[in-house]
Amino acid sequence: MTNQQIVVIEDEPAIADTLVHVIEQAGLRVSWCATAAQGLAVIQDEQVALVLLDVGLPDGNGFELCKQIRSFSTVPIIFLTARSDEIDRVVGLEIGADDYVTKPFSPREVLARIKLRMVRSDTPEPAAAQVSTDLHARQYDFYVGAQALQLTALEYKLLHKLHSHPRQVFSREQLMCAADMANASHYARNIDSHIKAIRHKLKSHDLAEVIHTKRGFGYFYEPK
Ligand code: CA
Repeated sequence: MTNQQIVVIEDEPAIADTLVHVIEQAGLRVSWCATAAQGLAVIQDEQVALVLLDVGLPDGNGFELCKQIRSFSTVPIIFLTARSDEIDRVVGLEIGADDYVTKPFSPREVLARIKLRMVRSDTPEPAAAQVSTDLHARQYDFYVGAQALQLTALEYKLLHKLHSHPRQVFSREQLMCAADMANASHYARNIDSHIKAIRHKLKSHDLAEVIHTKRGFGYFYEPK
């Protein structure tokens, strides 16, 4: 969970006190704003992990504030609602809220919702997870999803050769040629250390095993 603070925007001190207490008890940082203007200022100026937002505020309503926040931030917003007509608007989602709890609420329930939202916002989208094993070349580097492996030029040439001919075995000499190392035959054994370096970079993306060793011959690439 993140170190950033949670902001409670709620004009009733008794409710705000309860929320602040339960959030602090959970070991999270929290600040309280009693007006929409104060809340907006904090969200604009500080690192905010999540917003608990009351609908009825002295200087405006939570729906308008939610829209304003959404114009510049994707911070999770949980509404504190009192009436069923408010819930209908929140559930309608046209204002961009993430969740709501109804008053009177149990502090335990609010905390559970907070933790759920904060974990979700830290977790990559399912779409990103699906493409995470898609290894592809772009602008002289290889990418897994949107993340660059940050290969050296030589590592790039080696992986490009292997990757563009799946399951074809290349000898160390062939790989040297591919990497423009043809005139430096004493580098042949270094191919192994370059392959090791590439595997190491792939390993952080759980792809170390896509480069296979063909004992006595060389290396080949096998998509995961
Ligand atoms: Ca209120």
